[in-house]
Amino acid sequence: MHDVRYELLTLGDELLLGLTPNTHLTFIGLQLGRRGALLRRNVTVTDEADAIAAEFRASWARADVVITTGGLGPTCDDRTRDAIAEVLGQKLVFDPAVEKEIEARFARLGRKMTPNNLKQAYVFERGEVLPNPNGTAPGLWVEQDGRILVMLPGPPNELHPMFLEQVVPRLAARGRLLESEAFVQLRTAGVGESALETKLQPIFDRYGSRLSIAYCAHLGAVDCRVSAANGELSRAELEAIAGECATLLGDDFVCFGHDSLARVCAELLRQQEKKVAVVETATGGLLANAFSETCGACKFFAAGVICCSNDAKMQLLDVPECLLFQHGAVSDEAAVAMATGAAETLGADYALAITGFASATTGEEGGTLGTVYLALFSPSGVWSKKLNYPGPRPTMKARVVNAALDWLRRELLRAQRGAIIPPLPLRAR
Ligand code: ATP
Repeated sequence: MHDVRYELLTLGDELLLGLTPNTHLTFIGLQLGRRGALLRRNVTVTDEADAIAAEFRASWARADVVITTGGLGPTCDDRTRDAIAEVLGQKLVFDPAVEKEIEARFARLGRKMTPNNLKQAYVFERGEVLPNPNGTAPGLWVEQDGRILVMLPGPPNELHPMFLEQVVPRLAARGRLLESEAFVQLRTAGVGESALETKLQPIFDRYGSRLSIAYCAHLGAVDCRVSAANGELSRAELEAIAGECATLLGDDFVCFGHDSLARVCAELLRQQEKKVAVVETATGGLLANAFSETCGACKFFAAGVICCSNDAKMQLLDVPECLLFQHGAVSDEAAVAMATGAAETLGADYALAITGFASATTGEEGGTLGTVYLALFSPSGVWSKKLNYPGPRPTMKARVVNAALDWLRRELLRAQRGAIIPPLPLRAR
Protein backbone atom coordinates (compact mmCIF):
# COMPACT_ATOMS: atom_id res chain seq x y z
CA MET A 1 0.00 0.00 0.00
CA HIS A 2 2.97 2.29 0.53
CA ASP A 3 3.20 3.04 -3.19
CA VAL A 4 -0.35 4.42 -3.28
CA ARG A 5 0.12 8.14 -2.82
CA TYR A 6 -2.46 9.76 -0.58
CA GLU A 7 -2.75 13.51 -0.15
CA LEU A 8 -5.11 15.43 2.10
CA LEU A 9 -6.41 18.97 1.65
CA THR A 10 -7.95 20.34 4.82
CA LEU A 11 -9.99 23.42 4.02
CA GLY A 12 -11.02 26.28 6.23
CA ASP A 13 -9.84 29.64 7.51
CA GLU A 14 -10.59 28.54 11.06
CA LEU A 15 -7.80 25.97 10.83
CA LEU A 16 -5.25 28.54 9.69
CA LEU A 17 -6.42 31.00 12.33
CA GLY A 18 -5.81 28.39 15.01
CA LEU A 19 -9.47 28.43 16.05
CA THR A 20 -9.97 24.74 15.27
CA PRO A 21 -7.25 22.11 15.66
CA ASN A 22 -6.77 20.11 12.47
CA THR A 23 -7.94 16.80 13.89
CA HIS A 24 -8.88 15.50 10.43
CA LEU A 25 -5.17 15.18 9.70
CA THR A 26 -4.58 12.99 12.75
CA PHE A 27 -7.77 10.99 12.21
CA ILE A 28 -7.26 10.30 8.51
CA GLY A 29 -3.48 9.81 8.84
CA LEU A 30 -4.08 7.29 11.62
CA GLN A 31 -6.81 5.42 9.78
CA LEU A 32 -4.77 5.13 6.58
CA GLY A 33 -1.63 4.12 8.48
CA ARG A 34 -3.51 1.40 10.31
CA ARG A 35 -4.59 -0.06 7.00
CA GLY A 36 -1.16 -0.08 5.41
CA ALA A 37 -1.26 3.23 3.49
CA LEU A 38 0.81 6.35 4.11
CA LEU A 39 -0.61 9.83 4.00
CA ARG A 40 2.16 11.59 2.09
CA ARG A 41 1.09 15.19 2.31
CA ASN A 42 -1.39 17.50 4.00
CA VAL A 43 -2.01 21.07 2.97
CA THR A 44 -4.36 23.37 4.84
CA VAL A 45 -6.00 25.87 2.54
CA THR A 46 -8.01 29.07 3.06
CA ASP A 47 -11.64 29.24 1.96
CA GLU A 48 -10.68 31.21 -1.19
CA ALA A 49 -11.70 29.50 -4.43
CA ASP A 50 -8.40 30.32 -6.19
CA ALA A 51 -6.32 28.87 -3.39
CA ILE A 52 -8.45 25.73 -3.25
CA ALA A 53 -8.20 25.26 -7.03
CA ALA A 54 -4.42 25.77 -7.06
CA GLU A 55 -3.72 23.35 -4.23
CA PHE A 56 -6.13 20.76 -5.57
CA ARG A 57 -4.59 20.97 -9.07
CA ALA A 58 -1.14 20.31 -7.62
CA SER A 59 -2.33 17.39 -5.49
CA TRP A 60 -4.35 15.86 -8.31
CA ALA A 61 -1.27 15.86 -10.54
CA ARG A 62 0.83 14.04 -7.92
CA ALA A 63 -1.41 11.72 -5.95
CA ASP A 64 -3.35 8.49 -6.53
CA VAL A 65 -5.98 9.43 -3.97
CA VAL A 66 -6.83 13.00 -2.93
CA ILE A 67 -9.04 13.55 0.10
CA THR A 68 -10.53 16.95 0.89
CA THR A 69 -12.30 17.93 4.09
CA GLY A 70 -14.65 20.84 4.78
CA GLY A 71 -16.20 23.52 2.65
CA LEU A 72 -19.16 21.44 1.46
CA GLY A 73 -21.79 23.26 3.51
CA PRO A 74 -24.51 25.74 2.50
CA THR A 75 -22.84 29.06 3.31
CA CYS A 76 -21.01 31.52 1.06
CA ASP A 77 -17.58 30.43 2.36
CA ASP A 78 -18.18 26.85 1.22
CA ARG A 79 -16.55 27.01 -2.22
CA THR A 80 -14.82 23.67 -2.48
CA ARG A 81 -17.27 21.99 -4.86
CA ASP A 82 -17.14 24.74 -7.49
CA ALA A 83 -13.38 25.21 -7.29
CA ILE A 84 -12.66 21.51 -7.71
CA ALA A 85 -15.30 20.95 -10.42
CA GLU A 86 -13.48 23.53 -12.53
CA VAL A 87 -10.11 21.79 -12.15
CA LEU A 88 -11.67 18.40 -13.00
CA GLY A 89 -13.49 19.87 -15.98
CA GLN A 90 -16.75 18.55 -14.60
CA LYS A 91 -20.19 20.10 -14.34
CA LEU A 92 -22.10 20.23 -11.07
CA VAL A 93 -25.61 18.90 -11.48
CA PHE A 94 -28.61 19.13 -9.19
CA ASP A 95 -29.43 15.78 -7.54
CA PRO A 96 -33.11 15.55 -6.47
CA ALA A 97 -32.35 12.52 -4.25
CA VAL A 98 -29.92 14.61 -2.20
CA GLU A 99 -32.49 17.43 -2.06
CA LYS A 100 -35.01 14.99 -0.59
CA GLU A 101 -32.49 13.81 1.99
CA ILE A 102 -31.78 17.38 3.09
CA GLU A 103 -35.51 18.21 3.31
CA ALA A 104 -36.16 15.04 5.30
CA ARG A 105 -33.38 15.89 7.73
CA PHE A 106 -34.81 19.37 8.36
CA ALA A 107 -38.27 17.85 8.83
CA ARG A 108 -36.91 15.31 11.34
CA LEU A 109 -35.29 18.11 13.32
CA GLY A 110 -38.50 20.20 13.10
CA ARG A 111 -36.62 23.08 11.46
CA LYS A 112 -37.39 25.17 8.40
CA MET A 113 -35.00 24.68 5.50
CA THR A 114 -33.54 27.87 4.02
CA PRO A 115 -33.00 27.89 0.23
CA ASN A 116 -29.18 28.12 0.50
CA ASN A 117 -29.21 24.51 1.72
CA LEU A 118 -30.00 23.37 -1.81
CA LYS A 119 -26.44 24.25 -2.78
CA GLN A 120 -25.49 20.99 -1.08
CA ALA A 121 -27.60 19.03 -3.59
CA TYR A 122 -25.18 19.90 -6.43
CA VAL A 123 -22.94 16.95 -7.20
CA PHE A 124 -20.37 16.04 -9.86
CA GLU A 125 -21.97 14.89 -13.11
CA ARG A 126 -19.47 11.99 -13.25
CA GLY A 127 -19.21 11.07 -9.63
CA GLU A 128 -21.03 9.42 -6.77
CA VAL A 129 -22.66 10.63 -3.60
CA LEU A 130 -21.64 9.41 -0.14
CA PRO A 131 -24.80 9.73 1.97
CA ASN A 132 -24.43 11.69 5.20
CA PRO A 133 -26.82 10.36 7.88
CA ASN A 134 -25.38 12.82 10.43
CA GLY A 135 -25.62 16.09 8.49
CA THR A 136 -26.85 17.80 5.38
CA ALA A 137 -23.78 17.94 3.11
CA PRO A 138 -23.15 14.55 1.45
CA GLY A 139 -19.64 13.39 0.70
CA LEU A 140 -18.56 13.13 -2.93
CA TRP A 141 -16.61 10.41 -4.72
CA VAL A 142 -14.99 10.82 -8.14
CA GLU A 143 -12.87 8.37 -10.14
CA GLN A 144 -11.19 10.07 -13.04
CA ASP A 145 -7.88 9.73 -14.90
CA GLY A 146 -7.00 6.65 -12.82
CA ARG A 147 -7.21 8.70 -9.63
CA ILE A 148 -9.72 8.91 -6.82
CA LEU A 149 -11.09 12.06 -5.23
CA VAL A 150 -12.93 11.84 -1.92
CA MET A 151 -14.61 14.99 -0.60
CA LEU A 152 -15.77 14.87 3.00
CA PRO A 153 -17.80 17.29 5.12
CA GLY A 154 -15.98 19.27 7.84
CA PRO A 155 -17.80 18.37 11.08
CA PRO A 156 -15.91 15.48 12.74
CA ASN A 157 -19.15 13.71 13.79
CA GLU A 158 -20.09 13.56 10.10
CA LEU A 159 -16.65 12.84 8.68
CA HIS A 160 -15.59 10.00 11.01
CA PRO A 161 -18.47 7.57 10.33
CA MET A 162 -18.50 8.46 6.62
CA PHE A 163 -14.79 7.71 6.38
CA LEU A 164 -14.91 4.44 8.32
CA GLU A 165 -18.19 3.08 6.97
CA GLN A 166 -18.12 4.24 3.36
CA VAL A 167 -14.70 5.46 2.27
CA VAL A 168 -12.53 2.69 3.78
CA PRO A 169 -14.53 -0.18 2.21
CA ARG A 170 -14.58 1.59 -1.19
CA LEU A 171 -10.83 2.23 -1.14
CA ALA A 172 -10.21 -1.36 -0.01
CA ALA A 173 -12.42 -2.72 -2.79
CA ARG A 174 -10.26 -0.80 -5.30
CA GLY A 175 -7.02 -2.15 -3.82
CA ARG A 176 -5.93 1.24 -2.44
CA LEU A 177 -6.18 0.21 1.23
CA LEU A 178 -6.28 -2.92 3.38
CA GLU A 179 -9.75 -3.72 4.71
CA SER A 180 -8.43 -4.51 8.18
CA GLU A 181 -5.45 -3.35 10.16
CA ALA A 182 -2.04 -4.16 8.74
CA PHE A 183 -0.61 -4.96 12.15
CA VAL A 184 -1.49 -6.48 15.48
CA GLN A 185 -1.20 -4.01 18.32
CA LEU A 186 -0.39 -4.97 21.89
CA ARG A 187 -1.36 -2.30 24.40
CA THR A 188 0.61 -2.41 27.64
CA ALA A 189 0.69 -0.41 30.87
CA GLY A 190 3.07 -0.03 33.77
CA VAL A 191 6.16 -0.97 31.79
CA GLY A 192 8.47 1.49 30.02
CA GLU A 193 9.26 1.41 26.32
CA SER A 194 12.84 0.19 26.70
CA ALA A 195 11.93 -2.44 29.31
CA LEU A 196 9.15 -3.65 27.03
CA GLU A 197 11.51 -4.02 24.09
CA THR A 198 14.06 -5.86 26.23
CA LYS A 199 11.38 -8.29 27.35
CA LEU A 200 9.84 -8.96 23.92
CA GLN A 201 12.91 -8.90 21.70
CA PRO A 202 13.84 -12.59 22.23
CA ILE A 203 10.46 -13.52 20.73
CA PHE A 204 10.86 -11.12 17.81
CA ASP A 205 14.43 -12.29 17.13
CA ARG A 206 13.10 -15.68 16.09
CA TYR A 207 11.45 -14.08 13.05
CA GLY A 208 14.34 -11.83 12.00
CA SER A 209 13.68 -9.46 9.12
CA ARG A 210 10.27 -10.98 8.38
CA LEU A 211 8.85 -9.01 11.29
CA SER A 212 8.51 -5.26 11.64
CA ILE A 213 8.12 -3.82 15.16
CA ALA A 214 7.13 -0.31 16.21
CA TYR A 215 6.70 1.11 19.71
CA CYS A 216 4.58 4.09 20.64
CA ALA A 217 4.65 5.47 24.19
CA HIS A 218 1.67 7.33 25.66
CA LEU A 219 1.31 8.67 29.18
CA GLY A 220 1.52 5.52 31.28
CA ALA A 221 0.94 3.13 28.40
CA VAL A 222 3.11 1.76 25.60
CA ASP A 223 1.81 0.21 22.39
CA CYS A 224 3.78 -2.34 20.42
CA ARG A 225 2.78 -2.93 16.80
CA VAL A 226 3.72 -6.18 15.17
CA SER A 227 3.51 -6.37 11.39
CA ALA A 228 4.90 -8.44 8.53
CA ALA A 229 7.88 -6.70 6.93
CA ASN A 230 7.25 -7.86 3.34
CA GLY A 231 3.96 -9.61 3.70
CA GLU A 232 5.90 -12.78 4.54
CA LEU A 233 3.86 -13.54 7.64
CA SER A 234 0.13 -14.14 7.61
CA ARG A 235 -2.37 -12.41 9.90
CA ALA A 236 -2.76 -15.67 11.84
CA GLU A 237 1.02 -15.88 12.36
CA LEU A 238 1.13 -12.25 13.56
CA GLU A 239 -1.69 -12.95 15.99
CA ALA A 240 0.14 -16.00 17.32
CA ILE A 241 3.32 -13.93 17.89
CA ALA A 242 1.32 -11.20 19.63
CA GLY A 243 -0.43 -13.84 21.75
CA GLU A 244 2.93 -15.20 22.90
CA CYS A 245 4.01 -11.65 23.83
CA ALA A 246 0.79 -11.11 25.77
CA THR A 247 1.36 -14.29 27.79
CA LEU A 248 4.92 -13.27 28.56
CA LEU A 249 3.82 -9.80 29.70
CA GLY A 250 1.24 -11.08 32.16
CA ASP A 251 -0.70 -8.25 33.80
CA ASP A 252 1.39 -5.61 31.98
CA PHE A 253 -0.59 -6.60 28.88
CA VAL A 254 -3.77 -4.51 28.64
CA CYS A 255 -5.43 -5.56 25.39
CA PHE A 256 -5.00 -6.13 21.68
CA GLY A 257 -5.99 -3.06 19.67
CA HIS A 258 -6.90 0.37 20.86
CA ASP A 259 -9.16 0.08 23.90
CA SER A 260 -8.54 2.59 26.68
CA LEU A 261 -7.64 1.54 30.22
CA ALA A 262 -11.06 2.81 31.34
CA ARG A 263 -12.81 0.64 28.79
CA VAL A 264 -10.82 -2.41 29.83
CA CYS A 265 -11.66 -1.72 33.50
CA ALA A 266 -15.32 -1.25 32.58
CA GLU A 267 -15.39 -4.61 30.83
CA LEU A 268 -13.80 -6.37 33.82
CA LEU A 269 -16.24 -4.69 36.20
CA ARG A 270 -19.16 -5.74 34.01
CA GLN A 271 -17.94 -9.32 33.84
CA GLN A 272 -17.59 -9.45 37.63
CA GLU A 273 -20.83 -7.51 38.20
CA LYS A 274 -19.04 -4.97 40.39
CA LYS A 275 -19.23 -1.18 40.61
CA VAL A 276 -16.56 1.44 41.04
CA ALA A 277 -16.73 4.93 42.58
CA VAL A 278 -14.09 7.62 42.22
CA VAL A 279 -13.18 10.62 44.31
CA GLU A 280 -10.74 13.19 42.98
CA THR A 281 -9.14 16.46 43.91
CA ALA A 282 -6.12 17.20 41.68
CA THR A 283 -7.53 15.59 38.54
CA GLY A 284 -10.77 17.58 38.66
CA GLY A 285 -13.11 14.95 37.25
CA LEU A 286 -10.79 13.52 34.61
CA LEU A 287 -10.96 10.04 36.13
CA ALA A 288 -14.77 10.04 36.16
CA ASN A 289 -14.73 11.41 32.62
CA ALA A 290 -12.54 8.51 31.46
CA PHE A 291 -15.30 6.10 32.50
CA SER A 292 -17.99 8.22 30.87
CA GLU A 293 -16.46 7.42 27.46
CA THR A 294 -17.85 3.90 27.80
CA CYS A 295 -21.50 3.19 27.05
CA GLY A 296 -23.78 1.82 29.76
CA ALA A 297 -21.74 3.35 32.60
CA CYS A 298 -24.59 2.98 35.10
CA LYS A 299 -23.92 -0.77 35.11
CA PHE A 300 -20.40 -0.44 36.50
CA PHE A 301 -19.91 3.18 37.62
CA ALA A 302 -21.55 4.07 40.95
CA ALA A 303 -20.55 7.73 41.26
CA GLY A 304 -17.77 10.28 40.99
CA VAL A 305 -17.04 13.10 43.41
CA ILE A 306 -14.72 16.05 42.94
CA CYS A 307 -13.95 16.95 46.46
CA CYS A 308 -11.45 19.76 46.99
CA SER A 309 -12.36 21.30 50.36
CA ASN A 310 -11.87 19.47 53.63
CA ASP A 311 -15.48 20.21 54.53
CA ALA A 312 -16.68 18.35 51.44
CA LYS A 313 -14.44 15.40 52.26
CA MET A 314 -15.91 15.24 55.75
CA GLN A 315 -19.54 15.81 54.76
CA LEU A 316 -19.71 13.71 51.59
CA LEU A 317 -17.27 10.93 52.40
CA ASP A 318 -17.15 10.77 56.19
CA VAL A 319 -13.43 11.51 56.28
CA PRO A 320 -12.61 12.26 59.96
CA GLU A 321 -11.59 15.86 60.64
CA CYS A 322 -8.82 14.76 63.02
CA LEU A 323 -7.27 12.61 60.28
CA LEU A 324 -7.12 15.57 57.87
CA PHE A 325 -5.75 17.75 60.67
CA GLN A 326 -3.11 15.24 61.72
CA HIS A 327 -1.89 13.99 58.31
CA GLY A 328 -3.02 16.68 55.89
CA ALA A 329 -5.44 16.38 52.97
CA VAL A 330 -2.63 15.24 50.67
CA SER A 331 -1.42 12.13 52.43
CA ASP A 332 -1.65 8.36 52.37
CA GLU A 333 -4.08 8.48 55.25
CA ALA A 334 -6.41 10.98 53.56
CA ALA A 335 -6.38 9.01 50.30
CA VAL A 336 -7.28 5.80 52.11
CA ALA A 337 -10.06 7.50 54.08
CA MET A 338 -11.43 9.07 50.90
CA ALA A 339 -11.44 5.75 49.00
CA THR A 340 -13.07 3.94 51.91
CA GLY A 341 -15.61 6.73 52.37
CA ALA A 342 -16.40 6.73 48.65
CA ALA A 343 -17.00 2.97 48.56
CA GLU A 344 -19.16 3.03 51.67
CA THR A 345 -21.19 6.16 51.05
CA LEU A 346 -21.58 5.71 47.29
CA GLY A 347 -22.36 2.00 47.35
CA ALA A 348 -19.43 0.70 45.31
CA ASP A 349 -17.34 -2.49 45.46
CA TYR A 350 -14.21 -0.66 44.34
CA ALA A 351 -13.19 2.96 44.86
CA LEU A 352 -10.28 5.03 43.62
CA ALA A 353 -9.20 8.20 45.42
CA ILE A 354 -6.79 10.79 44.11
CA THR A 355 -5.53 13.60 46.32
CA GLY A 356 -2.59 15.78 45.41
CA PHE A 357 -0.99 18.99 44.28
CA ALA A 358 -1.59 19.57 40.60
CA SER A 359 -0.61 23.20 40.37
CA ALA A 360 2.63 24.62 39.06
CA THR A 361 3.44 26.02 42.48
CA THR A 362 4.14 24.28 45.73
CA GLY A 363 1.00 22.99 47.41
CA GLU A 364 -0.60 24.93 50.24
CA GLU A 365 0.48 22.42 52.78
CA GLY A 366 4.12 22.49 51.71
CA GLY A 367 3.91 19.45 49.41
CA THR A 368 5.71 19.49 46.09
CA LEU A 369 4.32 19.89 42.63
CA GLY A 370 3.11 16.67 41.08
CA THR A 371 2.92 14.79 44.38
CA VAL A 372 -0.22 12.72 44.44
CA TYR A 373 -1.55 10.03 46.73
CA LEU A 374 -3.64 7.37 45.14
CA ALA A 375 -5.77 4.91 47.07
CA LEU A 376 -7.66 1.85 45.96
CA PHE A 377 -10.46 0.29 47.96
CA SER A 378 -11.41 -3.25 46.93
CA PRO A 379 -13.36 -6.12 48.47
CA SER A 380 -10.05 -7.58 49.66
CA GLY A 381 -8.47 -4.48 51.21
CA VAL A 382 -7.51 -0.84 50.86
CA TRP A 383 -4.08 0.45 49.88
CA SER A 384 -2.44 3.71 48.97
CA LYS A 385 0.66 4.77 47.12
CA LYS A 386 2.51 7.99 46.54
CA LEU A 387 3.11 9.11 42.97
CA ASN A 388 5.36 11.86 41.81
CA TYR A 389 4.71 13.25 38.36
CA PRO A 390 6.31 16.68 38.06
CA GLY A 391 5.63 18.43 34.75
CA PRO A 392 2.91 20.41 33.06
CA ARG A 393 -0.49 20.17 34.71
CA PRO A 394 -2.38 18.40 31.87
CA THR A 395 0.36 15.79 31.53
CA MET A 396 0.50 15.20 35.25
CA LYS A 397 -3.29 14.81 35.43
CA ALA A 398 -3.41 12.34 32.54
CA ARG A 399 -0.59 10.26 34.05
CA VAL A 400 -2.28 10.10 37.45
CA VAL A 401 -5.58 9.03 35.87
CA ASN A 402 -3.82 6.30 33.89
CA ALA A 403 -1.97 5.12 37.00
CA ALA A 404 -5.27 4.91 38.88
CA LEU A 405 -7.00 3.02 36.09
CA ASP A 406 -4.10 0.65 35.69
CA TRP A 407 -4.13 -0.13 39.40
CA LEU A 408 -7.84 -0.89 39.30
CA ARG A 409 -7.35 -3.04 36.19
CA ARG A 410 -4.66 -5.13 37.90
CA GLU A 411 -6.77 -5.54 41.01
CA LEU A 412 -9.75 -6.67 38.92
CA LEU A 413 -7.56 -9.18 37.06
CA ARG A 414 -6.32 -10.48 40.40
CA ALA A 415 -9.89 -10.82 41.66
CA GLN A 416 -10.84 -12.63 38.45
CA ARG A 417 -8.09 -15.16 39.07
CA GLY A 418 -9.21 -15.53 42.68
CA ALA A 419 -5.81 -14.47 44.04
CA ILE A 420 -5.66 -13.36 47.65
CA ILE A 421 -2.32 -11.59 48.04
CA PRO A 422 -1.93 -8.26 46.21
CA PRO A 423 0.90 -8.56 43.66
CA LEU A 424 2.06 -4.93 43.90
CA PRO A 425 4.48 -3.58 46.46
CA LEU A 426 1.82 -1.48 48.16
CA ARG A 427 1.82 0.31 51.45
CA ALA A 428 -0.68 -2.07 52.98
CA ARG A 429 -2.70 -0.80 55.87
P1 ATP B 1 -20.97 22.66 7.32
O1 ATP B 1 -22.15 22.02 6.70
O2 ATP B 1 -20.96 22.56 8.82
O3 ATP B 1 -20.66 24.05 6.80
P2 ATP B 1 -18.57 21.94 5.85
O4 ATP B 1 -18.30 20.70 5.09
O5 ATP B 1 -18.78 23.18 5.04
O6 ATP B 1 -19.75 21.70 6.85
P3 ATP B 1 -16.76 23.49 7.38
O7 ATP B 1 -17.77 24.57 7.34
O8 ATP B 1 -15.46 23.72 6.73
O9 ATP B 1 -17.36 22.15 6.80
O10 ATP B 1 -16.53 23.03 8.89
C1 ATP B 1 -17.60 22.59 9.69
C2 ATP B 1 -17.11 22.26 11.08
O11 ATP B 1 -16.11 21.25 11.02
C3 ATP B 1 -16.50 23.43 11.80
O12 ATP B 1 -16.87 23.40 13.17
C4 ATP B 1 -15.03 23.18 11.66
O13 ATP B 1 -14.31 23.76 12.72
C5 ATP B 1 -14.94 21.67 11.68
N1 ATP B 1 -13.76 21.29 10.91
C6 ATP B 1 -13.50 21.60 9.63
N2 ATP B 1 -12.29 21.15 9.25
C7 ATP B 1 -11.76 20.53 10.33
C8 ATP B 1 -10.53 19.86 10.58
N3 ATP B 1 -9.59 19.76 9.64
N4 ATP B 1 -10.32 19.35 11.80
C9 ATP B 1 -11.27 19.46 12.76
N5 ATP B 1 -12.45 20.08 12.60
C10 ATP B 1 -12.70 20.62 11.39
